[in-house]
Amino acid sequence: MPMSQAFEQRLSAVIDKTIQQFGTPFHIYDEAGIKETGEQVKQAFARMEGFREYFAVKALPNPTVMTLMKDMGFGFDCSSSPELMLARQINSRGDDLMFTSNNTSPEQFLTAAENGGCILNLDDISLIDKVPEMPELICFRYNPGPRRKGNKIIGNPVEAKYGVTHEQIESAYQKAMDRGATRFGMHTMLASNELNFEYIVETTRMLLGVVEEISLKLNIEFEFINIGGGLGIPYRPEQNKIDVKAMGEEIFELMELFKKKNGWIPRLFMESGRYMTGPHGALVTKVINHKDIYRKYVGVDASMAALMRPGMYDAYHHIHIHGKDETMDTEVVDVVGPLCENNDKFAVQRALPVTREGDILIIHDTGAHGHAMGFNYNGQLRPQELLLRTDGTVALIRRKETVEDYFATLKFDALSV
Ligand SMILES: *Cc1c(COP(=O)(O)O)cnc(C)c1O
Repeated sequence: MPMSQAFEQRLSAVIDKTIQQFGTPFHIYDEAGIKETGEQVKQAFARMEGFREYFAVKALPNPTVMTLMKDMGFGFDCSSSPELMLARQINSRGDDLMFTSNNTSPEQFLTAAENGGCILNLDDISLIDKVPEMPELICFRYNPGPRRKGNKIIGNPVEAKYGVTHEQIESAYQKAMDRGATRFGMHTMLASNELNFEYIVETTRMLLGVVEEISLKLNIEFEFINIGGGLGIPYRPEQNKIDVKAMGEEIFELMELFKKKNGWIPRLFMESGRYMTGPHGALVTKVINHKDIYRKYVGVDASMAALMRPGMYDAYHHIHIHGKDETMDTEVVDVVGPLCENNDKFAVQRALPVTREGDILIIHDTGAHGHAMGFNYNGQLRPQELLLRTDGTVALIRRKETVEDYFATLKFDALSV
């Protein structure tokens, strides 16, 4: 199921007033839903001492939402300097931050080491000599290559630019030790939007296998394994939610087995983005035009600048029309924005209730990789972000972009204004 009934009801209660106050379009996030999912994840892994979720900042890089994550005890997975700085702005420090960059620049290493540093997750063996000062605790991203099949979004591991190969992994840790590292973690990230949790369990099994092998060879112990993100959400009505509780149980069994065999156990880290916030966001947009040519088009006041996933991955986002249900007269339409790109569509050949100008479309599951992926191509301005608080109030947590923002980086003498 897409958007939960509870969120739909909470949103429905405030939508008219919110549109009046803020105008459309906007992404709106549901604090109650985000907290509920966060608590469920904590519960699912509660039997594993030291479990920690590092929220993948790239999914929803808004400090107000990140503060909700921090309050639940989560850390942050960052992959760029600005993401690290954002997490530090809400007072996350050191072990609260996992820095998973790739093709890392010297400037990024400097930001990583500032302000009490972070957990450095190195993407390549060649980067070991480029770390200005080797921290005590070091992690490598493992790429199993032909040992595992990736999924559709993330692709085949052999073709993926990420990580250290199976053949390199031992010397990577050895080299890091030679440079002074004394504490270790191991990371991998193989799936994206995966609804079959067995895939994530298999990833854990694989990582524990490599950790065991390297710990025996180098006579070291690992403080943590990080199984990455990639937990999927049901974008389509016929899909089901991941059973995180069952996933937690199966992973717990694997960890216990490892402990029996080796006499020690690493902590379990996860860095979910989509699962934590995806279902708890919606894009609210207004119908401004209808067009009837070879196909019927419903034109809305948002564009793919607000939500790239349909245009980029052909992704399905469920849509409902505020105040109309699916038993009403429907027609098959493409829902489109104003960009001069034919993939600027939120839905293609979708049966939706017949709309009029001024009707409000609610596009589901935009809480992750939604606003964050937006761009300014074709003079598009990104929309505002709102937070629906648990007390029913709505707060502006990012204003909409203006033409001044669009011009802000340009250097030229305007001939007239
Ligand atoms: C994108 C990303 C994540 C989060 O992925 P989701 O599919 O949103 O859970 C986690 N870790 C890394 C390294 C990533 O690149």
